[in-house]
Amino acid sequence: MRPGIDVECREVGLRDGIQIQKVFFPTAGKIAWLTAEAAAGMPEIEVCSFVPPKLLPQFADAAEVVAAAKKVEGFRIAALSPNLRGAMDAFNAGVHKLNYVTSVSEEHNLANVRRTIDESIEDFKRIVALRNETAGSEKTILCAGLATALGCSIAGQVPVADVMKLAERFVDAGADEISVSDTVGYANPQQVKDMFTAVMGAFSKQVAVTAHFHDTRGLGLANVYAALETGCRHFDASLAGLGGCPFAPKATGNIVMDDLVFLLEGAGLKTGVDLDKLVEVRDIIAANLPDEPLNGMYAKAGAPKGFVPATQAA
Ligand code: ZN
Repeated sequence: MRPGIDVECREVGLRDGIQIQKVFFPTAGKIAWLTAEAAAGMPEIEVCSFVPPKLLPQFADAAEVVAAAKKVEGFRIAALSPNLRGAMDAFNAGVHKLNYVTSVSEEHNLANVRRTIDESIEDFKRIVALRNETAGSEKTILCAGLATALGCSIAGQVPVADVMKLAERFVDAGADEISVSDTVGYANPQQVKDMFTAVMGAFSKQVAVTAHFHDTRGLGLANVYAALETGCRHFDASLAGLGGCPFAPKATGNIVMDDLVFLLEGAGLKTGVDLDKLVEVRDIIAANLPDEPLNGMYAKAGAPKGFVPATQAA
């Protein structure tokens, strides 16, 4: 975690937020977005996904976006990859962190990446080896993303024990971080409290643990608070709540970054992010995706009278 901050927010709008967008987000717009958000103090931005362009044309410019991001100072460049091939491209592009995703439920993993969980873990071990032997990539952080950890659109409820078992396998295989994801927005705060109490208790001394929530059913920020109370200090979100859920076509997307920063700063936790500057970055999304509704309550209502963000109070 960057010195001087209490909680690390991770922008995932450029990946999770736009991956099911049918409209191509122009490369120059992506670069403008990440540049402006880095200037607002965002410590980490997941800038793209390394997947075959035929599968997800939205990320056909992944290498170009990473190359541009490397010219911007002050933030960690993350990218997602579901496999070894994508990891290789990400290492060659020079990302600081690779997020590798496996679903906790076998059915979802087969549907999403067409592999069993065992096969996904074997692939991850090859990625760890590749990272270690690729010149210049030795320090690249490997994060194991545990998708559908709080519910699955195919399997339904997901037991805490299954998440613990998969997390342990990834930590043993060499993951530097784990991300516990409510991919389809099923979770409620009590469930989050139970899950994160177990995960934080078992793994937070060895690896950073990130919470990834969607606001699909309106409980996203309540879930953040539940995870905070268990000691979790890393949160994914997307600016203006961009994104959606392929399994619930009318649903909203990731939790709203601007509202997350408002929550954390109001709780006295420094994020290092300038909330006013962050809100201005929404204009870049609006300009590039004019038909996309932007979510977020803080941007609509503004700051409460007398509100002083923890980062500014410091
Ligand atoms: Zn997500």
